[in-house]
Amino acid sequence: MATTDAAELAKAYDPRAVESRLYARWLAAGYFKPRIDPRRRPFTIVMPPPNVTGRLHIGHALTAAIEDALVRWHRMRGEPTLWVPGKDHAGIATQVVVERELAQQGLTRHDLGRERFLEKVWEWVRTYGSIIDEQHKRLGVSCDWDRLAFTMDPGPARAVRTMFKRLYDKGLIYRGARITNWCPRCQTALSDLEVEYQDDEGLLAYVRYPLVEREGEFLTIATTRPETILADTAVAVNPADPRYQAVIGARVRVPGVDREVPVVADSAVEMEFGTGALKITPGHDPVDFEIGQRHGLPAITVIGLDGRMTAEAGAYAGLPVEEARARFLDELRARGLLERVEPYRHRVGHCQRCKTVVEPLITEQWYVRIQPLAEPAIAAVREGRIRIIPERFEKVYFNWMENIRDWCISRQLWWGHRIPVWYCRACPREIVAVETPTACPACGGPLEQDPDVLDTWFSSGLWPFSTLGWPDDTPDLRYFYPNTLMETGYDILFFWVARMIMLGIEAMGDVPFRDVYLHGLIRVEGKKMSKTAGNVLDPLELMDEYGTDATRLALTVGTTPGNDTELNLQKLEACRNFVNKLWNSARYVLLNVPAAERPATLAPLTPPAGASVPDRWIVSRANHVVAEVTRLLGDYQLGEAARTVQEFLWGEYCDWYVEMAKIQLRVGDAAAQAATRYTLARVLEQTLRLLHPFAPFVTEELWQTLLAEPLARADTTLPPSIMIAPWPTPGPRDAAAEAFVEDVIELIRAARNLRQERKVEPARYVPATVVGGARTAELRAVAPLVSGLARLQPLEIVDALAAPPRQALPLVAGGFEAYLPAAELFDVAQERARLERELAEVERLIASGEARLANPGFTQKAPAAVVEGARRQLLENRERRERLAAQLRALEE
Ligand SMILES: [Zn+2]
Ligand SMILES: [Zn+2]
Repeated sequence: MATTDAAELAKAYDPRAVESRLYARWLAAGYFKPRIDPRRRPFTIVMPPPNVTGRLHIGHALTAAIEDALVRWHRMRGEPTLWVPGKDHAGIATQVVVERELAQQGLTRHDLGRERFLEKVWEWVRTYGSIIDEQHKRLGVSCDWDRLAFTMDPGPARAVRTMFKRLYDKGLIYRGARITNWCPRCQTALSDLEVEYQDDEGLLAYVRYPLVEREGEFLTIATTRPETILADTAVAVNPADPRYQAVIGARVRVPGVDREVPVVADSAVEMEFGTGALKITPGHDPVDFEIGQRHGLPAITVIGLDGRMTAEAGAYAGLPVEEARARFLDELRARGLLERVEPYRHRVGHCQRCKTVVEPLITEQWYVRIQPLAEPAIAAVREGRIRIIPERFEKVYFNWMENIRDWCISRQLWWGHRIPVWYCRACPREIVAVETPTACPACGGPLEQDPDVLDTWFSSGLWPFSTLGWPDDTPDLRYFYPNTLMETGYDILFFWVARMIMLGIEAMGDVPFRDVYLHGLIRVEGKKMSKTAGNVLDPLELMDEYGTDATRLALTVGTTPGNDTELNLQKLEACRNFVNKLWNSARYVLLNVPAAERPATLAPLTPPAGASVPDRWIVSRANHVVAEVTRLLGDYQLGEAARTVQEFLWGEYCDWYVEMAKIQLRVGDAAAQAATRYTLARVLEQTLRLLHPFAPFVTEELWQTLLAEPLARADTTLPPSIMIAPWPTPGPRDAAAEAFVEDVIELIRAARNLRQERKVEPARYVPATVVGGARTAELRAVAPLVSGLARLQPLEIVDALAAPPRQALPLVAGGFEAYLPAAELFDVAQERARLERELAEVERLIASGEARLANPGFTQKAPAAVVEGARRQLLENRERRERLAAQLRALEE
């Protein structure tokens, strides 16, 4: 037997040494860069840009594992494949981090001033901003790093200003004093999506509003925020509410305040809440603000931007909200205007970044008029120009988009894209421009730029085209837009995906991507990961411990779109074991298939001349797996695809075929041995390509080693790397070989089980007779395999038996009948005695069961279920008697 140098492959797989070396090689060879080929449709995907403040967490690892698998698959299919990496400046998040750092030195951003503060942030970004890129590289992501984009880069920043101006010129951006979510800590407006709602313990105060014209009468109103009574400008009731018909149009006195306000009728009032009469505070509640607009009500502000009561609150000015609430309730109680106070759990909005309670306040902000943008974005999904996977999220998307409100895009922050609006100090002119103007075009007067910056999601909403050069007409933009796929977590469907669709259609006149794949969250032992639960898995530690391939497999195997993925240490260990098993099987192949015989072609796999039935079987199964994995990937069933190739490699190839091949290489003639060597190597090679998208490093390492000799040939037609090798296409199937070998495997399994049950030492051979029937000749051809793998020797294969052999245990499996001599498995006399005892016991049980069921006192009086149970028991015991008797007969002399 020819062997190659065993040193070709280390005894055990050491991921660390392999991963960094291979990644550097791929990068240097330029494999991550697409070649624009106008004849081919590209595969394009942009990476959800992680925050520049970030470190890799398990969510990033999942995103990367899924996207890299898809990207590698498409690249191997020969599509020009572009994966654009990026990073997000994460306005509010980054500013909060840098402010926290300043606070440790007792400083605020105001101590530094805008310019110096921004220098500090940039410094911070330069120091820490590339950490996550390096961490992504450890995961093996094959994105085009030359196209790495940062939302604050000149290109994407110009795209932001261009989009702002374009929307402004079309009347789709406006500035208005409206009610907005305000974070008193961050000192900025927030969009609706940046507010997180949670149930807080609060109170519900029932307060009396005296009716002006009717002495002694009042309306009782329930409120969770009594301090805002100070800013009430009306009371509203539902026009359909029979309880309040008589008071519509009347006036009430705001309790504790010397102000008379009207009772208005508005269908936005919920009749079920509180008493059905609602206090209207347009200055501090978004619903009230809208009711106020409809009825021309004034808005009064009693809570300031700092979260304290304003001068408008009179005696309460300067107090924090909580304190003002308590004191004002005391005042109402003293005046006899407080009916009662109940504890009340209700939804309260908190700032997503700093968790402070958000105040709805009227401030001057910039808004996107969203309706005209939402309509085409709804139509794009409705008409199937964009497909959301899984489909059930389309409903979620429609529901949100159909009820969408204007988008507040200005933030009172310093870090971010400054709003491209300038105000003339000399005349009332407002200038919106892409490039900074020097003077007022009307009067030449000096200009001042709007101090605010844009919502971070405004820039990420442009990501599918701003990263490709928009607003310039670049070759990249022409070729790679629309992107093929947007892959991201379902938690940012609205934040990001919906806005990309709206802005993409607006800017480009076409959808930004064809498919949206939404993945779920990672759960550990069924729980969401969190620091408090103490179950946070750090992907960097996992890669150190298990290797990148095992970590990626653990993240992808079994994942399904839209559903949360379970990750735990058992799964990680199983994936590491799989990688090691693959490594060991590959070592066997390398040691037994000489270099000169290694595959020099990647053509579809067919069985070689002289192939045995098991050789034909594994080739057929390998081809089946190619077709199946390809279908699953095309269907975005990544988790199933990964599982299918893993199970084939682990089970059919490593556990069965390699073990069969070991025997075939010992007993076959020269031609049969050559066929087995060929099959071993080619099935391994083809399956490595199938596994590559999910486990890029170990597959490349094994592939390079396996094909080292053919790759080194001067006339080789092989690609230099598995990652640019063609995706396999399935060769022919062989149904007969598949069916036969599966039956043989079943027979071997059954024999192994029987030996195990009887506690036969694993190494000991046991004689056996197998009835082959019509398949006797075929079975004889694989007799050495059955004999070797089931440890059956001597193994007699016969056409038929006139009668079962004496004192033999029968075995029926895979359509075969086999007999193993009892004396070889156990002490026959002892076993007979045991069976006889058992038989006697069963006879006794049967007799008593029969007697019981023959007694009408039992069958008529006992509950039906009990009688039924007794009947079933009797039946089972009779069956057991048959079995025992047969076993005893088999052991007769
Ligand atoms: Zn905040
Ligand atoms: Zn001017």
